Amino acid sequence: MKTKQSPNRILLTEREIPKKWYNLTADLEDKPRPPLDPQTHQPISPDKLSVIFPQNLIEQEVASQRYIKIPEELLKAYAKWRPTPLVRARGLEELLETPAHIYFKNESVSPAGSHKLNTALAQAYYNKLEGVKRLVTETGAGQWGSALAMACRTFELGCKVFMVKSSYNQKPYRRAMMHMWGAEVSASPSEETNAGRALNEQHPDSPGSLGMAISEAVEVAASDSETKYSLGSVLNHVLLHQTIIGEEAVKQMDKIEEFPDTIIGCVGGGSNFGGFAFPFVREILEQRPRAKKMRVIAVEPSACPTLTKGVFTYDFGDTAGLTPLLPMHSLGHDYVPPAIHAGGLRYHGVAPLISALVNLGIIQPVAYTQNEVFDAALKFARSEGIVPAPESSHAIRAAIDEALRAKSDGKKEVIVFNLSGHGYFDMSAYDDYLEGRLADSTVDEDDLQKYLNQLRHQSFES
Ligand SMILES: *Cc1c(COP(=O)(O)O)cnc(C)c1O
Repeated sequence: MKTKQSPNRILLTEREIPKKWYNLTADLEDKPRPPLDPQTHQPISPDKLSVIFPQNLIEQEVASQRYIKIPEELLKAYAKWRPTPLVRARGLEELLETPAHIYFKNESVSPAGSHKLNTALAQAYYNKLEGVKRLVTETGAGQWGSALAMACRTFELGCKVFMVKSSYNQKPYRRAMMHMWGAEVSASPSEETNAGRALNEQHPDSPGSLGMAISEAVEVAASDSETKYSLGSVLNHVLLHQTIIGEEAVKQMDKIEEFPDTIIGCVGGGSNFGGFAFPFVREILEQRPRAKKMRVIAVEPSACPTLTKGVFTYDFGDTAGLTPLLPMHSLGHDYVPPAIHAGGLRYHGVAPLISALVNLGIIQPVAYTQNEVFDAALKFARSEGIVPAPESSHAIRAAIDEALRAKSDGKKEVIVFNLSGHGYFDMSAYDDYLEGRLADSTVDEDDLQKYLNQLRHQSFES
C-alpha cells in the first residue's frame, strides 16, 4: 500500500529525457518475417528501398541491437516540448467514482499537436545527414503532414505533401498550418504525377484516398534523386522513434513508485501505441515480476477492425500495390473502410511489430463505435479540460471501461493510457456529436468477408 499522496503531474527535467530508443525486435524470439519485394515476392533488397528511403533509416528498419542512441542535435529539437507530462486524471477518476488510479501520457503538447513529431523530426534529421534536400509524403486528415512540415522547417529541408482531396477541402486549418511551416501542399489526386493524372482521368471527381496519395508521393521520391519519401507510421523505424514516449512514461511511473496493471493506446498504423507500450512490454518479455499480470490493450474503431477481425498475412501498405509487402493483420489493401472522424485510425493494416505481439497473446485488441468514443471524449473534456483527438479518444473509452470494471470489482488498479494528440482541429466533428448528428458508420460484414477471404487465399509466403 502506498502512503504518499502522488502528484497530479509527474514531470521529468530536460536532463532526464531518455537518450536511447528501444528496439523491441531485439527481444523477440521469433523475429517478424522480412518485407517482400512487391514485384518478385522475395525478401526486398536494401538497394531497392534506398530509392525512396535514406540508408541510415533503412539500417534502423532492420536493426538488431536493443538500443539506438538518440543524436545530440535531435535531443535538442525534442527539448522544445519534451519530456511530456504524465498526468493523474483525478477529475476523470472523481467523475467515475472509481478506486482506480488513471494516468495519461500527454503527447498532445507537441507543437504539431500529436506524437507524430517524435518521428518526423528524427526522419528529417537523418535525411538531412545524408544530403537529401526535400521530403515528400502523404497526409489524410493533416496530422502527419503538419508534423513533417514543422520537422522539415527545423532541419531546413523542403517539404511536399499530397493531401487527400476531401480533407484538403474540408480541413483548411491543417492545410494552413503546413503552409505556415513552409510546406508545399497539393490536393491528391493531383495533375503533378502519372499516378494522379491517370486517377483523375478515370475518376474525374475522385475525393482521393490515402492509398492514392501514397502512390503520388512515392512516384515523386523515386523520380528525383534529391527527394526522399517519408512515412508516419507502421514501419519499424517509426515505432522505434516513438519509444521515447514509453521510456519517459516508465521513468515517470518509477518516480511515484507505481506500475501499471493496464496500459492502453489507440491503434491506426500502430506508432503511438507501440512507442508508448514497448518499454513496458519489455518488462513482460524480461519476465520481470511486476509486469507479470500487466494487460496491454490496443483500441481500434469498429469501423476499421484491423486487429479484431483482420487476417494475419503479407499485404501491401497502399492501395496501388507499390509498397513492399509486410507481414501484418490486414483488412485487405483495397478494402475501403467507412468514413469516421478518427481519420488517423482508418488504415487497412498495422505495424508488423504490433501484429507479432497480438499473435503472442501479449496485446489484447478491442474495438469501439464512434458514438461510444465521442461519449468518452466529452467525459474527458469535461473532467480534465483537454479536447482530445478523436483518435486518442478510443484509448480514453477503454480507460473509462477499465476504471468502471475496477470499481465493480472493488479494486485499486493502475490504468495508464497514451493521449496521442489534441482535437482542436476536429471541432466540426464535436459540433456534429453535440448536435446529435454523428452517425455510427458500421462495416458491411458481407463486403468485409469478401476482402478477408481474398487475403486468406493469396499466397505471398516465400
Ligand atoms: C495519426 C494519429 C494516430 C494514429 O496513428 P498511429 O501510427 O497508430 O499512432 C493516433 N492519434 C493521433 C492524434 C494521430 O495523429
